[in-house]
Amino acid sequence: MTTFRSQGSPVPTIVLNDGHVIPQLGFGVFQVPEAEVTAVVAEALRVGYRSIDTAAVYGNEEGVGRALRESGIPRDEVFVTTKLWNADQGYDSTLRAFDESMRKLGLDYLDLYLIHWPVPSAGRFVDTYRAFQRLKEQGRIRSLGVSNFRVEDLELLISQAGEIPTVNQIELHPTLTQQRLRDYDAAHAIATEAWSPLGQGAALDNATVVTIAKELDRTPAQVVIRWHLQLGNVVIPKSVTPSRIAENFDVFGFELSADQVEAISRLDAGTRVGPDPAVFSAGLG
Ligand code: NAD
Repeated sequence: MTTFRSQGSPVPTIVLNDGHVIPQLGFGVFQVPEAEVTAVVAEALRVGYRSIDTAAVYGNEEGVGRALRESGIPRDEVFVTTKLWNADQGYDSTLRAFDESMRKLGLDYLDLYLIHWPVPSAGRFVDTYRAFQRLKEQGRIRSLGVSNFRVEDLELLISQAGEIPTVNQIELHPTLTQQRLRDYDAAHAIATEAWSPLGQGAALDNATVVTIAKELDRTPAQVVIRWHLQLGNVVIPKSVTPSRIAENFDVFGFELSADQVEAISRLDAGTRVGPDPAVFSAGLG
């Protein structure tokens, strides 16, 4: 089985329910323009990130692919994720959209393909997933996953498609701790991956986070990333600033105490920075 190899990386890996492994810390490129993304991903790879999270709708897959090629890092030492956009849900349209993403990325296989949003009202995610299963049989995708799926979406998918996704990538940060969904994921051996893990920066001004950062002589971003790691989440912070890209990777030389983890978890207020998956249907008109 060809799978990601974490040669000499300080980043722990998580074994997915299909036997492949994912680095617990990766790098997200949402809102990074195509013109900038090659330099930004090159910097992340230079610092040591070996997992890159993009999406068709981010419009930067070509630039991500260029950075991967130019880095010279062997293909099996980088874990690449992209996502199928809402407008392309459905069996045949998924197969076409996947080809387009792979052409842009310039890759011959993908580590992880995610259904970006469930769009429950469209009723197409099971057909979409069946296309994912075919692409996996053909060896073009290593691991199948979903994003923004709620418990009810996961239950429907698993009962209809008969294959449990490996990853559920969801909005997750100190004021949206997603305990119920994380418990469901854990009970089904689905890895929970946190998007907007820093609350798009908002979590970094929180008084509890700032106090803990002072106690540990670390930055608020490092404390929040550490909180995710200690909860067992896969985490994909984003920055375009070299010093912050490095800061967000420098999280393996310290630990939060159980009380510090608990204090951050108590900040949960159910507040989202992104859309509600129950109703989000952008791209479908
Ligand atoms: P994030 O929580 O990672 O926050 C990023 C922002 O925080 C930066 O733009 C910057 O303003 C600030 N920041 C980052 N590091 C900092 C530091 N060290 N010090 C101070 N400020 C810092 O938000 P995000 O980009 O929305 O989420 C991360 C990734 O998650 C995305 O890039 C994307 O890959 C993924 N994502 C997925 C979905 C989805 O629907 N699946 C949605 C949103 C994001």
